[in-house]
Amino acid sequence: MAYRVTLIPGDGIGPEVAEAAKRCLDATGVKFEWEIHAAGEGAIAQFGSPLPEALLESIRRNKVALKGPITTPIGTGIRSVNVALRHALDLYACVRPARLYPGVPSHYAEVDLVIIRENSEDLYAGIEYDDGTPEVRELIAWVKKKVTAVHKANIMKFTDGLFLEVFRRVAVEYAGRIEAEDRLVDNLCMQLVQHPENFDLLVLPNLYGDILSDLCAGLIGGLGVAPGANMGEEAALFEPVHGSAPKYQGQNKVNPVATILSGVLMLHHLGETEAAGRLERAVSEVLREGKSVTYDLKRERGDRTSVGTREMADAIIQRLL
Ligand code: NAD
Repeated sequence: MAYRVTLIPGDGIGPEVAEAAKRCLDATGVKFEWEIHAAGEGAIAQFGSPLPEALLESIRRNKVALKGPITTPIGTGIRSVNVALRHALDLYACVRPARLYPGVPSHYAEVDLVIIRENSEDLYAGIEYDDGTPEVRELIAWVKKKVTAVHKANIMKFTDGLFLEVFRRVAVEYAGRIEAEDRLVDNLCMQLVQHPENFDLLVLPNLYGDILSDLCAGLIGGLGVAPGANMGEEAALFEPVHGSAPKYQGQNKVNPVATILSGVLMLHHLGETEAAGRLERAVSEVLREGKSVTYDLKRERGDRTSVGTREMADAIIQRLL
């Protein structure tokens, strides 16, 4: 049986990275039926709205979507379609793994952390199971992670204060099983840059989560390799951390890995763990080899041996066949 997935190519570099990810996902052998929907300014002429109702209906029906970035005009024009989508589908938790793969140029030797960004307002969002269940024991055995809440509760006493209070209340329920700590956001930025290896899982309100996602992308080789997932009770939408980078539109130049790794997260979500592992290994091998990679993954930006978006996806697909 094929999985029905809503595919939103987006705009700018979106269609190129979305197509690369779609081809890689199809090459895993998992069967997909893609329902392709336009969004953003380009959708207005055709559908009279940057977020057509048919698109929302498609995600509500399929419960899973893969998305390329969508431009939000600065200062004028339409409001953010990305924010509207998260609100409309109540995708309240944004999960953004930041893992440094061997071969990717970075100032660091090892980075492996996850950002959990509150995605629609500033309220605590997390994953929970009932105490004492096998899922909890499995999670504890597997996770062995420390959770760090990030806030500015010394200044924002009521909003961030509430966030911290709820974090501490929840942490008590997991005392002795999951280590919990908190940091002021400014202090955390400095500590992350000096010692990213000291952190496992960061839980943040919306804006800090947005900013620190880019900071963490910088630790692991840049926006080209940073994937993400927006999770709610009814639907899940997978997309790269990066935006539509309009200056690179249509040049077959940018890195497709962030969107392909978002596809890996989607495979995990669908329970296709084996295919997810194979696709991630294929990406990892191409990165380690460092040959068929886009310009941003070369040590020298002017390196003429870099390949295009399509060719990097081809190299990943080659390892899946
Ligand atoms: P951006 O992420 O689009 O690009 C910033 C820079 O990062 C680019 O100039 C490029 O150098 C690099 N970069 C980004 N993606 C890359 C890739 N795949 N490979 C290699 N290099 C890459 O950020 P921006 O310029 O601030 O935003 C452009 C537009 O994207 C804005 O309209 C913004 O609102 C929108 N945006 C959308 C989303 C989303 O759809 N979820 C997220 C962020 C920004």
